[in-house]
Amino acid sequence: MREPLALENNQKIVLIDGGKMDTVYLRVNSENPDETSLKKAAELIRKGELVVFPTETVYGLGANSFDETAIMKVFEAKGRPQDNPLIIHISNMEMLKEVVSQDVGSFSALMNLVWPGPVTLIFDKNKEIPNSVTAGLKSVAVRFPSHPVAQELIRLSGVPIAAPSANLSGRPSPTMEEHVIEDMDERVSCIILSGPTVFGLESTIIDLSRGRPSLLRPGPIDPDQLKGVLPDLHVPEFVSGRKEYLGDPMSPGLKYRHYSPDIPLILVEGETGMVVAKVGILAGRKKSLVLCSEEMKDYYPVQVKKVVLGSRDNLLEVASNLFKELRNKENKEYSQIIAEPFPETGVGLAIMNRLRKAAWKIERA
Ligand code: AMP
Ligand code: MG
Repeated sequence: MREPLALENNQKIVLIDGGKMDTVYLRVNSENPDETSLKKAAELIRKGELVVFPTETVYGLGANSFDETAIMKVFEAKGRPQDNPLIIHISNMEMLKEVVSQDVGSFSALMNLVWPGPVTLIFDKNKEIPNSVTAGLKSVAVRFPSHPVAQELIRLSGVPIAAPSANLSGRPSPTMEEHVIEDMDERVSCIILSGPTVFGLESTIIDLSRGRPSLLRPGPIDPDQLKGVLPDLHVPEFVSGRKEYLGDPMSPGLKYRHYSPDIPLILVEGETGMVVAKVGILAGRKKSLVLCSEEMKDYYPVQVKKVVLGSRDNLLEVASNLFKELRNKENKEYSQIIAEPFPETGVGLAIMNRLRKAAWKIERA
């Protein structure tokens, strides 16, 4: 049954195949999902329809990985460029064999450590997977999510589910129910609602398909935690998000602008005292909202609106609130968002990567 939800700014872009569709909403418990509801969603996946579902990172926009027509619908529904590959989600290790062609035995310690969980691994692709999923690449990105709803949906569908984040292309990834409704209502057959996601940031991506393992996207897992099982993990400079990614075909999606809020975001970087002064100057020029840490909030001018993302001692909390605040509807009352920098340790590397990519401008203090 469709829930009567009045949404502001509900962008309805007409699908290429000509129509908006009725979206079925299913509300399921995130820890103990109702099998009858998920069977309906799984049936839709098997029929080649699109289903939005929660994962522990962000909400995903899922389709049967083997169904080329369904995969095309994913790109249409998001407005996603077709050279930006999708991540395939599996619910057990047997499924991995249907997706990859590489001998993964030497990575079993890594897989035991990170799966199920918020880490995507890139291997050589199995030829049964359509080229449209991987944007023509010979490698494929795979993740075994830990979210009970995601696991159960994949298990009941009986097929690996290809799913990018369930946002319109370019917007911040959806971490809350209202985000997926706003972006995907009438664009997909079914939306499974089950509250906010846990990490609120997209998965860590590691490429294992080309010699030395390489971090392609920082995420919820601290790269240092992986050193025990991946001692030679390479962390390229572009993962900081500081440098423009200059198009090595290693990960095509990296070249796209991401996570953009609807109003200008200015990231101020530099030493703490200088950052405080610079934020004060910038905030004095326009009606501003400052995204900051608990520890720093009282240093900014009193008349400025402050939104606390969390404590600098708990960067997982900051990460989980970041996209929620970038997408907050109340932001439109302000002319600009100003963000302070966070320490680049642990998940802080991912926070700064996302902030730098979301920023319309980076100011050095
Ligand atoms: P999203 O699911 O929206 O977070 O996007 C998935 C991202 O995974 C893409 O933007 C790519 O950067 C990356 N990705 C997916 N497949 C591959 C692959 N075969 N090789 C490298 N990167 C990939
Ligand atoms: Mg995405």
